[in-house]
Amino acid sequence: MSDDFDVIVIGGGPVGENAAARTAAGGLRTALVEAERVGGECSYWACMPSKALLRPGHALAAARRVPGVPVGERLDPAEVLKRRNSFTSDWDDSGQVEWAEGAGLTVVRGRGRLAGERRVDVDGRVLTATKAVVVCTGSVPRIPSLPGLADVPYWTSREATSAQEVPRSLVVLGGGVVGVEMAQAWARLGSDVTLVVSGERPLPKFEAFAGELVADGLKEDGVRLVTGVKAVGVSTSDGSGGSGPGGSGPGGSGLGGAGEVSLTLSDDAVVTGAHLLIATGRQPATFDLGVEQFGFTAGEALEVDDTGRVSGVDWLYAAGDVTGRALLTHQGKYAARAVGTAIVTGATDPEPWTAPVATADHTAVPQVVFTDPEVASVGWTEAQAREAGLDIRVVDLDIAVAGSSLHADGYRGKARMIVDERKRTLVGVTFAGPDVAELIHAATIAIVGEVTVDRLWHAVPAYPTISEVWLRLLEAYGL
Ligand SMILES: Cc1cc2nc3c(=O)[nH]c(=O)nc-3n(C[C@H](O)[C@H](O)[C@H](O)COP(=O)(O)OP(=O)(O)OC[C@H]3O[C@@H](n4cnc5c(N)ncnc54)[C@H](O)[C@@H]3O)c2cc1C
Repeated sequence: MSDDFDVIVIGGGPVGENAAARTAAGGLRTALVEAERVGGECSYWACMPSKALLRPGHALAAARRVPGVPVGERLDPAEVLKRRNSFTSDWDDSGQVEWAEGAGLTVVRGRGRLAGERRVDVDGRVLTATKAVVVCTGSVPRIPSLPGLADVPYWTSREATSAQEVPRSLVVLGGGVVGVEMAQAWARLGSDVTLVVSGERPLPKFEAFAGELVADGLKEDGVRLVTGVKAVGVSTSDGSGGSGPGGSGPGGSGLGGAGEVSLTLSDDAVVTGAHLLIATGRQPATFDLGVEQFGFTAGEALEVDDTGRVSGVDWLYAAGDVTGRALLTHQGKYAARAVGTAIVTGATDPEPWTAPVATADHTAVPQVVFTDPEVASVGWTEAQAREAGLDIRVVDLDIAVAGSSLHADGYRGKARMIVDERKRTLVGVTFAGPDVAELIHAATIAIVGEVTVDRLWHAVPAYPTISEVWLRLLEAYGL
Protein backbone atom coordinates (compact mmCIF):
# COMPACT_ATOMS: atom_id res chain seq x y z
CA MET A 1 0.00 0.00 0.00
CA SER A 2 1.37 3.45 -0.94
CA ASP A 3 2.09 5.91 1.86
CA ASP A 4 1.58 8.94 -0.39
CA PHE A 5 -1.75 10.70 -0.37
CA ASP A 6 -3.19 14.09 -1.22
CA VAL A 7 -5.05 14.36 2.08
CA ILE A 8 -4.58 12.57 5.40
CA VAL A 9 -7.40 12.74 7.92
CA ILE A 10 -6.48 11.77 11.49
CA GLY A 11 -9.50 10.44 13.36
CA GLY A 12 -12.31 8.43 11.78
CA GLY A 13 -15.25 9.67 13.83
CA PRO A 14 -18.26 11.22 12.10
CA VAL A 15 -16.31 14.40 11.43
CA GLY A 16 -13.21 12.73 10.00
CA GLU A 17 -15.39 10.48 7.87
CA ASN A 18 -17.18 13.47 6.39
CA ALA A 19 -14.04 15.49 5.73
CA ALA A 20 -12.39 12.49 4.09
CA ALA A 21 -15.43 11.54 2.02
CA ARG A 22 -15.60 15.12 0.74
CA THR A 23 -11.96 15.24 -0.37
CA ALA A 24 -12.19 11.76 -1.91
CA ALA A 25 -15.33 12.79 -3.82
CA GLY A 26 -13.32 15.76 -5.08
CA GLY A 27 -10.83 13.36 -6.66
CA LEU A 28 -8.12 13.58 -3.97
CA ARG A 29 -6.34 10.45 -2.73
CA THR A 30 -7.41 10.38 0.91
CA ALA A 31 -6.26 8.36 3.92
CA LEU A 32 -8.42 8.01 7.03
CA VAL A 33 -6.32 7.16 10.09
CA GLU A 34 -8.23 5.64 13.02
CA ALA A 35 -6.80 4.43 16.32
CA GLU A 36 -9.92 2.64 17.63
CA ARG A 37 -13.14 2.23 15.66
CA VAL A 38 -14.17 3.92 12.44
CA GLY A 39 -17.34 5.80 13.36
CA GLY A 40 -15.80 7.36 16.46
CA GLU A 41 -17.29 8.20 19.81
CA CYS A 42 -20.64 9.17 18.30
CA SER A 43 -21.38 5.73 16.87
CA TYR A 44 -20.24 3.56 19.78
CA TRP A 45 -20.21 5.54 23.04
CA ALA A 46 -22.14 8.77 22.56
CA CYS A 47 -25.01 9.88 20.28
CA MET A 48 -26.26 6.54 19.01
CA PRO A 49 -26.19 4.36 22.14
CA SER A 50 -27.38 7.18 24.41
CA LYS A 51 -30.37 7.92 22.21
CA ALA A 52 -31.08 4.20 21.87
CA LEU A 53 -31.16 3.98 25.67
CA LEU A 54 -33.50 6.98 25.97
CA ARG A 55 -35.98 6.33 23.19
CA PRO A 56 -37.88 3.37 24.74
CA GLY A 57 -38.52 5.35 27.94
CA HIS A 58 -39.87 8.24 25.89
CA ALA A 59 -42.15 5.94 23.93
CA LEU A 60 -43.54 4.44 27.14
CA ALA A 61 -44.03 7.87 28.75
CA ALA A 62 -45.72 9.17 25.60
CA ALA A 63 -48.12 6.22 25.52
CA ARG A 64 -48.96 6.71 29.21
CA ARG A 65 -49.97 10.31 28.49
CA VAL A 66 -52.66 9.22 26.06
CA PRO A 67 -55.57 7.43 27.75
CA GLY A 68 -56.77 4.36 25.91
CA VAL A 69 -53.34 3.15 24.84
CA PRO A 70 -52.59 -0.15 26.57
CA VAL A 71 -49.09 0.01 28.06
CA GLY A 72 -47.02 -2.23 30.28
CA GLU A 73 -45.82 -1.22 33.70
CA ARG A 74 -42.16 -0.78 32.87
CA LEU A 75 -39.50 -1.14 30.23
CA ASP A 76 -37.94 -4.48 29.40
CA PRO A 77 -34.25 -3.72 30.09
CA ALA A 78 -32.95 -6.79 28.24
CA GLU A 79 -34.75 -5.76 25.04
CA VAL A 80 -33.71 -2.12 25.43
CA LEU A 81 -30.05 -3.07 25.85
CA LYS A 82 -30.29 -5.50 22.96
CA ARG A 83 -31.66 -2.79 20.66
CA ARG A 84 -28.97 -0.37 21.94
CA ASN A 85 -26.32 -2.99 21.11
CA SER A 86 -27.69 -3.27 17.58
CA PHE A 87 -27.34 0.50 17.09
CA THR A 88 -23.64 0.20 17.93
CA SER A 89 -23.32 -2.87 15.66
CA ASP A 90 -22.12 -4.61 18.83
CA TRP A 91 -19.12 -2.25 18.78
CA ASP A 92 -17.95 -3.74 15.50
CA ASP A 93 -16.87 -1.15 12.94
CA SER A 94 -16.62 -3.40 9.89
CA GLY A 95 -19.76 -1.83 8.36
CA GLN A 96 -18.26 1.65 8.68
CA VAL A 97 -14.93 0.48 7.24
CA GLU A 98 -16.83 -0.98 4.30
CA TRP A 99 -18.60 2.34 3.82
CA ALA A 100 -15.29 4.26 3.98
CA GLU A 101 -13.63 2.01 1.44
CA GLY A 102 -16.70 2.25 -0.78
CA ALA A 103 -16.34 6.05 -0.60
CA GLY A 104 -12.83 5.69 -1.98
CA LEU A 105 -10.91 6.18 1.27
CA THR A 106 -7.84 4.26 2.38
CA VAL A 107 -8.44 3.27 5.99
CA VAL A 108 -5.22 3.13 7.99
CA ARG A 109 -5.52 1.55 11.44
CA GLY A 110 -3.32 3.05 14.13
CA ARG A 111 -2.61 6.19 16.17
CA GLY A 112 -1.64 9.17 14.02
CA ARG A 113 0.84 11.81 15.12
CA LEU A 114 1.85 14.96 13.26
CA ALA A 115 5.45 14.40 12.17
CA GLY A 116 6.47 17.59 10.39
CA GLU A 117 5.11 19.36 7.33
CA ARG A 118 2.35 17.28 5.63
CA ARG A 119 3.60 14.15 7.37
CA VAL A 120 1.78 11.83 9.74
CA ASP A 121 3.41 9.03 11.71
CA VAL A 122 1.04 6.10 12.26
CA ASP A 123 2.67 3.79 14.77
CA GLY A 124 6.01 4.13 12.99
CA ARG A 125 4.72 4.24 9.41
CA VAL A 126 5.07 7.69 7.88
CA LEU A 127 2.32 8.90 5.53
CA THR A 128 2.77 12.02 3.42
CA ALA A 129 0.16 14.36 1.96
CA THR A 130 0.58 16.61 -1.08
CA LYS A 131 -2.20 18.96 -0.01
CA ALA A 132 -3.44 18.80 3.56
CA VAL A 133 -3.63 17.02 6.89
CA VAL A 134 -6.96 17.27 8.72
CA VAL A 135 -7.14 16.63 12.47
CA CYS A 136 -10.50 15.20 13.59
CA THR A 137 -9.48 13.45 16.79
CA GLY A 138 -12.53 14.48 18.78
CA SER A 139 -12.63 14.88 22.54
CA VAL A 140 -12.25 12.86 25.72
CA PRO A 141 -13.98 13.14 29.11
CA ARG A 142 -12.59 15.88 31.32
CA ILE A 143 -11.86 14.20 34.64
CA PRO A 144 -11.89 16.54 37.66
CA SER A 145 -9.06 16.46 40.17
CA LEU A 146 -11.22 15.06 42.94
CA PRO A 147 -9.46 13.65 46.01
CA GLY A 148 -9.77 9.85 45.99
CA LEU A 149 -10.99 9.57 42.40
CA ALA A 150 -7.77 8.00 41.17
CA ASP A 151 -8.31 5.08 43.55
CA VAL A 152 -11.91 4.18 42.75
CA PRO A 153 -13.53 2.64 39.67
CA TYR A 154 -15.79 5.07 37.88
CA TRP A 155 -17.78 5.39 34.70
CA THR A 156 -17.32 7.95 31.99
CA SER A 157 -19.80 8.39 29.14
CA ARG A 158 -18.27 5.29 27.56
CA GLU A 159 -19.37 2.94 30.31
CA ALA A 160 -22.65 4.82 30.80
CA THR A 161 -23.61 4.26 27.18
CA SER A 162 -22.29 0.70 26.82
CA ALA A 163 -23.12 -0.99 30.15
CA GLN A 164 -24.60 -4.46 29.62
CA GLU A 165 -26.61 -4.45 32.85
CA VAL A 166 -28.77 -1.88 34.57
CA PRO A 167 -26.77 -0.59 37.55
CA ARG A 168 -28.68 -1.14 40.77
CA SER A 169 -27.76 2.43 41.70
CA LEU A 170 -25.85 5.22 40.02
CA VAL A 171 -24.44 8.55 41.19
CA VAL A 172 -24.03 11.00 38.33
CA LEU A 173 -21.65 13.91 38.85
CA GLY A 174 -22.41 16.76 36.46
CA GLY A 175 -25.67 18.27 35.20
CA GLY A 176 -24.75 18.97 31.58
CA VAL A 177 -26.29 17.16 28.64
CA VAL A 178 -24.52 13.84 29.24
CA GLY A 179 -25.37 13.91 32.95
CA VAL A 180 -29.09 14.53 32.52
CA GLU A 181 -29.53 12.17 29.58
CA MET A 182 -27.78 9.28 31.28
CA ALA A 183 -29.48 9.95 34.63
CA GLN A 184 -32.89 9.68 32.99
CA ALA A 185 -32.03 6.74 30.74
CA TRP A 186 -30.84 4.56 33.60
CA ALA A 187 -33.54 5.73 36.02
CA ARG A 188 -36.21 4.73 33.51
CA LEU A 189 -34.50 1.36 33.15
CA GLY A 190 -34.83 0.79 36.89
CA SER A 191 -31.66 2.17 38.43
CA ASP A 192 -31.75 4.21 41.62
CA VAL A 193 -30.13 7.42 40.37
CA THR A 194 -28.72 10.45 42.18
CA LEU A 195 -27.70 13.44 40.08
CA VAL A 196 -25.30 15.94 41.66
CA VAL A 197 -25.07 19.38 40.03
CA SER A 198 -23.09 22.37 41.18
CA GLY A 199 -25.60 25.02 40.09
CA GLU A 200 -29.21 25.68 41.04
CA ARG A 201 -30.44 23.46 38.23
CA PRO A 202 -29.12 21.16 35.52
CA LEU A 203 -28.30 22.37 31.99
CA PRO A 204 -26.66 25.67 33.00
CA LYS A 205 -25.80 26.58 29.41
CA PHE A 206 -29.44 26.65 28.37
CA GLU A 207 -32.27 29.05 29.24
CA ALA A 208 -33.19 28.62 32.92
CA PHE A 209 -36.72 27.41 32.18
CA ALA A 210 -35.32 24.49 30.17
CA GLY A 211 -33.18 23.28 33.06
CA GLU A 212 -36.11 23.67 35.44
CA LEU A 213 -38.48 21.61 33.29
CA VAL A 214 -35.84 18.90 32.83
CA ALA A 215 -35.23 18.88 36.60
CA ASP A 216 -38.97 18.30 37.15
CA GLY A 217 -38.95 15.50 34.58
CA LEU A 218 -36.00 13.80 36.26
CA LYS A 219 -37.63 14.02 39.67
CA GLU A 220 -40.84 12.50 38.29
CA ASP A 221 -38.70 9.58 37.15
CA GLY A 222 -37.39 9.14 40.68
CA VAL A 223 -33.98 10.75 40.15
CA ARG A 224 -32.67 12.27 43.37
CA LEU A 225 -31.48 15.72 42.31
CA VAL A 226 -28.84 17.33 44.53
CA THR A 227 -28.16 20.94 43.55
CA GLY A 228 -25.83 23.74 44.57
CA VAL A 229 -23.01 21.52 45.82
CA LYS A 230 -19.59 20.48 44.64
CA ALA A 231 -18.03 17.05 45.08
CA VAL A 232 -15.05 17.28 47.41
CA GLY A 233 -14.02 13.65 47.77
CA VAL A 234 -14.75 10.09 46.72
CA SER A 235 -14.15 6.71 48.32
CA THR A 236 -15.42 3.14 48.25
CA SER A 237 -17.35 1.66 51.13
CA ASP A 238 -15.39 -1.59 51.11
CA GLY A 239 -12.13 -0.45 49.57
CA SER A 240 -12.77 -2.77 46.62
CA GLY A 241 -12.36 -2.33 42.92
CA GLY A 242 -9.65 -1.17 40.61
CA SER A 243 -9.37 2.42 39.51
CA GLY A 244 -10.33 4.69 36.67
CA PRO A 245 -12.80 4.20 33.86
CA GLY A 246 -13.69 0.86 32.34
CA GLY A 247 -11.87 1.05 29.03
CA SER A 248 -12.85 1.21 25.41
CA GLY A 249 -15.01 -1.87 24.85
CA PRO A 250 -18.60 -2.43 25.79
CA GLY A 251 -19.25 -3.22 29.41
CA GLY A 252 -18.27 -1.05 32.29
CA SER A 253 -16.33 -0.92 35.47
CA GLY A 254 -17.93 -0.81 38.85
CA LEU A 255 -17.71 -2.31 42.22
CA GLY A 256 -19.95 -5.27 41.56
CA GLY A 257 -21.15 -7.15 44.62
CA ALA A 258 -22.47 -4.99 47.41
CA GLY A 259 -19.70 -2.37 47.37
CA GLU A 260 -20.62 1.29 47.00
CA VAL A 261 -18.90 4.43 45.78
CA SER A 262 -19.41 7.37 48.13
CA LEU A 263 -19.20 10.94 46.99
CA THR A 264 -18.65 13.54 49.69
CA LEU A 265 -20.21 16.90 48.88
CA SER A 266 -19.27 20.44 49.83
CA ASP A 267 -22.12 20.59 52.37
CA ASP A 268 -20.70 17.45 54.06
CA ALA A 269 -23.52 15.25 52.74
CA VAL A 270 -22.50 11.89 51.28
CA VAL A 271 -24.23 10.23 48.33
CA THR A 272 -23.59 6.62 47.43
CA GLY A 273 -24.18 4.29 44.53
CA ALA A 274 -22.97 1.05 43.00
CA HIS A 275 -21.47 3.11 40.18
CA LEU A 276 -20.24 6.67 39.82
CA LEU A 277 -20.55 8.42 36.47
CA ILE A 278 -18.21 11.35 35.94
CA ALA A 279 -19.98 13.68 33.50
CA THR A 280 -18.10 16.92 34.04
CA GLY A 281 -17.42 17.91 30.46
CA ARG A 282 -15.08 17.06 27.62
CA GLN A 283 -11.68 18.16 26.50
CA PRO A 284 -10.10 18.21 23.04
CA ALA A 285 -8.19 15.04 22.13
CA THR A 286 -4.87 16.68 21.31
CA PHE A 287 -2.73 14.47 23.52
CA ASP A 288 0.25 12.71 21.96
CA LEU A 289 -0.56 14.27 18.61
CA GLY A 290 2.53 16.42 18.08
CA VAL A 291 0.58 19.70 18.26
CA GLU A 292 3.31 21.36 20.29
CA GLN A 293 5.43 21.83 17.15
CA PHE A 294 2.73 24.22 15.89
CA GLY A 295 2.49 26.20 19.10
CA PHE A 296 -0.48 24.37 20.64
CA THR A 297 -0.74 22.68 24.04
CA ALA A 298 -1.79 19.05 24.45
CA GLY A 299 -5.32 18.88 25.86
CA GLU A 300 -6.27 22.26 24.44
CA ALA A 301 -8.33 22.95 21.33
CA LEU A 302 -6.81 23.52 17.90
CA GLU A 303 -7.83 27.04 16.96
CA VAL A 304 -9.18 27.23 13.42
CA ASP A 305 -10.63 29.83 11.07
CA ASP A 306 -14.04 29.27 9.50
CA THR A 307 -12.63 27.09 6.71
CA GLY A 308 -11.11 24.87 9.39
CA ARG A 309 -7.54 25.98 8.74
CA VAL A 310 -5.38 25.78 11.86
CA SER A 311 -4.06 29.20 12.82
CA GLY A 312 -0.66 29.84 11.30
CA VAL A 313 -0.25 26.53 9.36
CA ASP A 314 -1.47 26.65 5.76
CA TRP A 315 -1.64 22.84 5.17
CA LEU A 316 -3.13 21.84 8.52
CA TYR A 317 -6.89 21.75 9.10
CA ALA A 318 -9.10 20.59 11.96
CA ALA A 319 -12.82 20.05 12.50
CA GLY A 320 -15.18 18.71 15.12
CA ASP A 321 -14.79 18.41 18.87
CA VAL A 322 -11.00 18.87 18.66
CA THR A 323 -11.53 22.52 17.68
CA GLY A 324 -13.58 23.18 20.83
CA ARG A 325 -16.24 25.00 18.78
CA ALA A 326 -19.63 23.27 19.02
CA LEU A 327 -19.24 19.80 20.53
CA LEU A 328 -21.99 18.29 18.43
CA THR A 329 -21.91 15.72 15.68
CA HIS A 330 -24.00 17.72 13.22
CA GLN A 331 -21.90 20.87 13.66
CA GLY A 332 -18.66 18.90 13.37
CA LYS A 333 -19.88 17.27 10.17
CA TYR A 334 -20.87 20.69 8.82
CA ALA A 335 -17.39 22.00 9.62
CA ALA A 336 -15.94 18.88 7.95
CA ARG A 337 -17.89 19.58 4.78
CA ALA A 338 -16.49 23.11 4.80
CA VAL A 339 -12.93 21.82 5.33
CA GLY A 340 -13.31 19.25 2.57
CA THR A 341 -14.67 21.84 0.15
CA ALA A 342 -11.95 24.35 1.07
CA ILE A 343 -9.24 21.76 0.41
CA VAL A 344 -10.73 20.56 -2.87
CA THR A 345 -11.37 24.06 -4.22
CA GLY A 346 -8.26 25.64 -2.72
CA ALA A 347 -10.41 28.39 -1.22
CA THR A 348 -8.42 30.50 1.20
CA ASP A 349 -10.64 33.46 2.03
CA PRO A 350 -14.16 32.57 0.91
CA GLU A 351 -17.24 34.67 1.53
CA PRO A 352 -19.36 33.86 4.60
CA TRP A 353 -22.34 31.59 3.96
CA THR A 354 -20.59 29.81 1.09
CA ALA A 355 -19.77 26.08 1.09
CA PRO A 356 -16.12 26.24 2.26
CA VAL A 357 -17.00 28.26 5.39
CA ALA A 358 -18.66 27.08 8.63
CA THR A 359 -20.36 30.45 9.20
CA ALA A 360 -23.35 29.02 11.10
CA ASP A 361 -21.01 27.94 13.89
CA HIS A 362 -21.19 31.45 15.28
CA THR A 363 -24.88 32.24 15.47
CA ALA A 364 -27.03 29.31 14.45
CA VAL A 365 -25.99 26.16 16.30
CA PRO A 366 -28.97 23.87 16.97
CA GLN A 367 -28.90 21.42 19.85
CA VAL A 368 -31.32 18.92 21.30
CA VAL A 369 -31.21 17.47 24.79
CA PHE A 370 -32.97 14.13 24.42
CA THR A 371 -34.50 13.98 27.89
CA ASP A 372 -38.22 13.92 28.59
CA PRO A 373 -39.13 16.75 28.43
CA GLU A 374 -36.80 17.49 25.54
CA VAL A 375 -34.93 20.75 25.12
CA ALA A 376 -34.33 22.05 21.62
CA SER A 377 -32.51 25.30 21.06
CA VAL A 378 -30.77 27.23 18.32
CA GLY A 379 -28.79 30.45 18.29
CA TRP A 380 -28.30 32.55 21.34
CA THR A 381 -29.77 32.43 24.81
CA GLU A 382 -31.09 35.68 26.23
CA ALA A 383 -27.93 36.10 28.31
CA GLN A 384 -25.66 35.55 25.30
CA ALA A 385 -27.61 37.96 23.12
CA ARG A 386 -27.47 40.65 25.80
CA GLU A 387 -23.78 40.03 26.31
CA ALA A 388 -23.29 40.48 22.55
CA GLY A 389 -24.89 43.92 22.95
CA LEU A 390 -27.92 43.21 20.77
CA ASP A 391 -31.08 45.21 21.15
CA ILE A 392 -33.43 42.27 21.75
CA ARG A 393 -36.97 41.50 22.69
CA VAL A 394 -37.68 38.23 24.48
CA VAL A 395 -41.03 36.51 23.98
CA ASP A 396 -41.89 33.73 26.45
CA LEU A 397 -44.89 31.44 26.22
CA ASP A 398 -46.23 28.21 27.57
CA ILE A 399 -46.64 25.66 24.81
CA ALA A 400 -50.40 25.36 25.08
CA VAL A 401 -51.98 24.95 21.67
CA ALA A 402 -54.47 22.50 20.23
CA GLY A 403 -51.62 20.38 18.85
CA SER A 404 -49.88 20.04 22.21
CA SER A 405 -53.04 19.19 24.13
CA LEU A 406 -53.90 16.49 21.58
CA HIS A 407 -50.34 15.24 21.67
CA ALA A 408 -50.42 14.40 25.38
CA ASP A 409 -52.75 14.87 28.33
CA GLY A 410 -51.25 17.38 30.75
CA TYR A 411 -48.72 18.57 28.14
CA ARG A 412 -46.28 20.98 29.80
CA GLY A 413 -43.80 22.98 27.77
CA LYS A 414 -42.32 26.41 27.29
CA ALA A 415 -41.00 28.39 24.35
CA ARG A 416 -38.77 31.43 24.09
CA MET A 417 -38.14 33.50 20.97
CA ILE A 418 -35.47 36.22 20.93
CA VAL A 419 -35.85 38.93 18.31
CA ASP A 420 -33.13 41.30 17.18
CA GLU A 421 -35.18 44.49 17.27
CA ARG A 422 -32.96 46.32 14.79
CA LYS A 423 -33.28 43.73 12.05
CA ARG A 424 -36.62 42.22 13.20
CA THR A 425 -35.08 38.76 12.78
CA LEU A 426 -34.72 35.88 15.23
CA VAL A 427 -31.38 35.32 16.99
CA GLY A 428 -32.37 32.56 19.40
CA VAL A 429 -35.18 30.09 20.04
CA THR A 430 -35.59 27.51 22.81
CA PHE A 431 -38.36 24.98 23.20
CA ALA A 432 -38.68 22.71 26.24
CA GLY A 433 -41.39 20.07 26.43
CA PRO A 434 -42.24 16.57 25.30
CA ASP A 435 -41.32 15.92 21.66
CA VAL A 436 -40.15 19.41 20.73
CA ALA A 437 -36.96 18.24 18.99
CA GLU A 438 -38.47 18.25 15.53
CA LEU A 439 -39.63 21.87 15.97
CA ILE A 440 -36.14 23.26 16.04
CA HIS A 441 -35.23 23.03 12.38
CA ALA A 442 -37.87 25.63 11.53
CA ALA A 443 -36.14 28.00 13.95
CA THR A 444 -32.75 27.17 12.47
CA ILE A 445 -33.99 28.05 8.99
CA ALA A 446 -35.50 31.31 10.25
CA ILE A 447 -32.21 32.32 11.90
CA VAL A 448 -29.90 31.25 9.07
CA GLY A 449 -32.22 32.77 6.46
CA GLU A 450 -32.56 35.98 8.52
CA VAL A 451 -36.29 35.79 7.94
CA THR A 452 -37.98 38.85 9.40
CA VAL A 453 -40.80 38.30 11.87
CA ASP A 454 -43.09 40.10 9.42
CA ARG A 455 -42.34 37.49 6.76
CA LEU A 456 -42.40 34.66 9.31
CA TRP A 457 -46.00 35.66 9.99
CA HIS A 458 -46.82 34.16 6.59
CA ALA A 459 -45.29 30.77 7.50
CA VAL A 460 -48.62 29.36 8.69
CA PRO A 461 -48.31 26.38 11.05
CA ALA A 462 -50.52 23.40 10.26
CA TYR A 463 -53.46 22.80 12.58
CA PRO A 464 -53.45 21.05 15.02
CA THR A 465 -49.68 20.64 15.52
CA ILE A 466 -47.32 21.73 18.29
CA SER A 467 -45.85 24.10 15.67
CA GLU A 468 -48.84 26.36 16.25
CA VAL A 469 -46.75 27.75 19.07
CA TRP A 470 -44.99 29.75 16.32
CA LEU A 471 -48.22 31.62 15.62
CA ARG A 472 -48.71 32.32 19.32
CA LEU A 473 -45.12 33.55 19.68
CA LEU A 474 -45.57 35.97 16.79
CA GLU A 475 -48.91 37.16 18.17
CA ALA A 476 -47.31 37.70 21.57
CA TYR A 477 -44.61 39.70 19.79
CA GLY A 478 -47.35 41.97 18.48
CA LEU A 479 -48.06 40.79 14.95
C1 LIG B 1 -22.77 10.55 25.86
C2 LIG B 1 -22.72 11.52 24.70
C3 LIG B 1 -23.85 11.73 23.94
C4 LIG B 1 -23.80 12.59 22.86
N1 LIG B 1 -24.94 12.78 22.14
C5 LIG B 1 -24.92 13.61 21.07
C6 LIG B 1 -26.09 13.79 20.29
O1 LIG B 1 -27.14 13.23 20.56
N2 LIG B 1 -26.02 14.62 19.22
C7 LIG B 1 -24.87 15.28 18.90
O2 LIG B 1 -24.86 16.03 17.92
N3 LIG B 1 -23.75 15.12 19.63
C8 LIG B 1 -23.74 14.29 20.69
N4 LIG B 1 -22.59 14.11 21.43
C9 LIG B 1 -21.36 14.77 20.97
C10 LIG B 1 -20.74 13.95 19.82
O3 LIG B 1 -20.50 12.63 20.26
C11 LIG B 1 -19.44 14.58 19.36
O4 LIG B 1 -19.66 15.94 19.06
C12 LIG B 1 -18.93 13.87 18.12
O5 LIG B 1 -18.66 12.52 18.38
C13 LIG B 1 -17.66 14.56 17.61
O6 LIG B 1 -17.20 13.90 16.47
P1 LIG B 1 -15.65 13.88 16.14
O7 LIG B 1 -15.53 13.09 14.87
O8 LIG B 1 -15.11 15.26 16.21
O9 LIG B 1 -14.97 13.09 17.34
P2 LIG B 1 -15.13 11.58 17.82
O10 LIG B 1 -16.47 11.06 17.57
O11 LIG B 1 -14.63 11.61 19.23
O12 LIG B 1 -14.13 10.77 16.92
C14 LIG B 1 -12.77 10.98 16.98
C15 LIG B 1 -12.06 9.77 16.46
O13 LIG B 1 -10.67 10.04 16.37
C16 LIG B 1 -9.95 8.91 16.81
N5 LIG B 1 -8.63 9.37 17.23
C17 LIG B 1 -8.32 10.18 18.26
N6 LIG B 1 -7.01 10.42 18.30
C18 LIG B 1 -6.47 9.75 17.25
C19 LIG B 1 -5.17 9.62 16.74
N7 LIG B 1 -4.14 10.26 17.28
N8 LIG B 1 -4.98 8.84 15.65
C20 LIG B 1 -6.02 8.19 15.07
N9 LIG B 1 -7.27 8.29 15.51
C21 LIG B 1 -7.50 9.07 16.58
C22 LIG B 1 -10.79 8.34 17.92
O14 LIG B 1 -10.48 6.98 18.15
C23 LIG B 1 -12.20 8.56 17.37
O15 LIG B 1 -12.62 7.45 16.62
C24 LIG B 1 -22.60 13.27 22.52
C25 LIG B 1 -21.46 13.07 23.29
C26 LIG B 1 -21.50 12.20 24.37
C27 LIG B 1 -20.25 11.98 25.17
